Amino acid sequence: MEEDITGAHSPEQILGYFGHLKINNPDLYAMINQDAKELSRIFDVLSTDAQEVYVEGIRKYVCVQCGRIHDRKQRANDCRYSDLKLKPYLCQGACGLDSCDRSYVSKQLLNRHCENDQVKMCGRCNKYQSKQNYARHVGSCQG
Ligand SMILES: [Zn+2]
Ligand SMILES: [Zn+2]
Ligand SMILES: [Zn+2]
Repeated sequence: MEEDITGAHSPEQILGYFGHLKINNPDLYAMINQDAKELSRIFDVLSTDAQEVYVEGIRKYVCVQCGRIHDRKQRANDCRYSDLKLKPYLCQGACGLDSCDRSYVSKQLLNRHCENDQVKMCGRCNKYQSKQNYARHVGSCQG
């Protein structure tokens, strides 16, 4: 019988499926165990919202991962992602290029990408150019 692990959420559940390795391949099991712990820690961080603090009477937000204080909750939550080296903000074509697969650690960086790296198609050669290069490109494009 095949077991479906796609529905498993907790590291214990995931580890349960690899239980037989404990005896057959203890080294591999130890590795998976380590990964499951790390994953579980990351899930913890990601499922915990930034905490509010008051600094001189002004509400601020503390990143749950590194403890840095930010003015906005969004920034404090985004800080977790960069601390964990995660890039959850996917462009998916928001910049204008359908096949764009860039991803960013914060919404601001994604927005900056969409504004500055936004692509336009050159009417002469039909190739995409970044917004920054567009004017220069069009000036020199031979088609
Ligand atoms: Zn942080
Ligand atoms: Zn993009
Ligand atoms: Zn061109």
